[in-house]
Amino acid sequence: MREIITLECEVCKRRNYVTTKEKRNNPERLTLKKYCKWDKKHTSHKETK
Ligand SMILES: [Zn+2]
Repeated sequence: MREIITLECEVCKRRNYVTTKEKRNNPERLTLKKYCKWDKKHTSHKETK
């Protein structure tokens, strides 16, 4: 069961990425280092509902 999740930038709060994850393997919220084009740097992106 792969679930579609949205990743939100922790700096500007924009939703920049959509990805999928295996909920069984990662039941808690995912945080990824991703490039934010608004901040022009890599920032933490957190899973949102
Ligand atoms: Zn940002």
